Amino acid sequence: MDRSFDELEAIVRNRICSVCTERTTEGQCDLESPSSCALFRLFPQVVQAIQSVDSNDIHQYIEAIRRNVCSVCQEQARDGSCEVRQQVQCALDAYLLLVVDAIEEATGRTFDKTGIRPLPAGSAARPGPQIRL
Ligand code: SF4
Ligand code: SF4
Repeated sequence: MDRSFDELEAIVRNRICSVCTERTTEGQCDLESPSSCALFRLFPQVVQAIQSVDSNDIHQYIEAIRRNVCSVCQEQARDGSCEVRQQVQCALDAYLLLVVDAIEEATGRTFDKTGIRPLPAGSAARPGPQIRL
């Protein structure tokens, strides 16, 4: 199913912002600078990274995000570490499972979440993150 980036972004915003801890009761992003949210700041790269993987293993998506998104993100240090990620403050990392699910669904693919192994700390998809980008 072909969708434009704008359509995909609208779907992902609807899905992710609605559960994000930074969302206010008025439905606004409460970040000091909403455009700094890495998920949408680098959205085309996020979509391309996710579409480059066809797997039921979330770790392969994490690797694709690290390779294609984190590598061009201003927050990543030279050694590949990311303080924002370590502090569970990157919405992309924190909600990656939901982001993958939303994009796969919107593009007509399915991501089977059964059998997902536990993730190491600082590696995405932990429930209830406190996002402060
Ligand atoms: S931090 Fe990002 S995911 Fe969360 S509400 Fe703001 S724009 Fe949406
Ligand atoms: S985990 Fe860090 S380097 Fe990767 S997108 Fe998020 S803020 Fe950027």
